[in-house]
Amino acid sequence: MIPYGRQWLDEDDLAAVEAVLRSDLITTGPKVAEFERGLADYLGAGEAVAVSSGTAALHTAMYAAGIGQGDEVILPPITFVATANAVLFQGGRPVFADVDPDTLLLSPESVQTRITDRTKAIVAVDYAGQPCDYDPLVEIAGRHGLILIADGCHALGAEYKGRKVGTLADLTVFSFHPVKHITTGEGGMVLTDNPDFAERMRRFRNHGITADYSRRGRQGTWFYEMVDIGYNYRITDFQCALGISQLRKLPGWLERRRAIAGCYDDHFRDIPGVEPLGVRPDVLHAYHLYVIRLDPELLQIDRSELFSALHQAGIGVNVHYIPVHLHPFYRQRFGTGPGLCPVAEAAYERIITLPVFPCMSDMDVQDVIIATERLSTTMVRIDGKAGFYGV
Ligand SMILES: *Cc1c(COP(=O)(O)O)cnc(C)c1O
Repeated sequence: MIPYGRQWLDEDDLAAVEAVLRSDLITTGPKVAEFERGLADYLGAGEAVAVSSGTAALHTAMYAAGIGQGDEVILPPITFVATANAVLFQGGRPVFADVDPDTLLLSPESVQTRITDRTKAIVAVDYAGQPCDYDPLVEIAGRHGLILIADGCHALGAEYKGRKVGTLADLTVFSFHPVKHITTGEGGMVLTDNPDFAERMRRFRNHGITADYSRRGRQGTWFYEMVDIGYNYRITDFQCALGISQLRKLPGWLERRRAIAGCYDDHFRDIPGVEPLGVRPDVLHAYHLYVIRLDPELLQIDRSELFSALHQAGIGVNVHYIPVHLHPFYRQRFGTGPGLCPVAEAAYERIITLPVFPCMSDMDVQDVIIATERLSTTMVRIDGKAGFYGV
């Protein structure tokens, strides 16, 4: 089975992890700061705070942004549930704005219609690895005094008008889950240029305590103060050693992801009924996901039939995402449902995610292309049952 995404670990990575495991400090140690500095420098951001997951990073960013009881945070529904859940962790209220029909990225026009006097922040999700249209989002945030948070979990290494994701918003969140661009097993990071935010986030990941263990050791004191509620969102030193080792390979992996996407683009461009998502000319895409849209009017097969047929053919396609506001929890808690974000809801019915990951072979790419093309264009219905007959 070819999965939709997977990690790539080599001997260097394993050696880096083992070296830390054989040392004295296996959790908060020198590798955490080294990984933070490494990613901040690569992206051109001032500060970085590493935590235990992308979800923890989102929560930490919400805390830094000062989200509290009743504050509204505008975000798109085409994202992983964690983006919205993080707002709730801080007692805020997620408010769903619709997406652009061609890119499925947060629509600045729709954001504008969702702003109230309780709005505190906007979360721009760089869906699939394409940066949102940041200029209008920054303008709206500035005009209304809102914090702009980027959920860049799909977009490590992506660029908007020559500037990297990680420098485009007040706070940017990344995940190092194994399907993402680089992995630490579980892990995440928040990037910012604001030192006050960084200070608050370092405290938040460590129980709300002002000085961390190593700083107390250096200063020769037992004294510490807990000044706000925080969590244990620390990431281990051996995970960060893995992150440092993975980061060295990121530029090559981004090239490989772009090359695979280029092959898909070339093939699917000419197939009626199969349409890749739009990519704006002012971006450099990071292709965490490669998403196609199916046109039911032109195809013999619908999305769920194609999904099953591709799985039977050993191709682990996926669907990203069920719009968050359609999940039972959100419907029950906030009364959301169909009609709230019609563009996102319509797009959801037609999208399917094809495999893209750097260690995918050219043969795997060809297999995906051939199977997708054959199944979507020549599959026929017999006795009401879709099947791939006699070709
Ligand atoms: C992966 C992901 C997250 C969560 O990251 P974890 O590391 O799995 O907690 C959040 N938002 C988006 C868009 C993601 O893709």
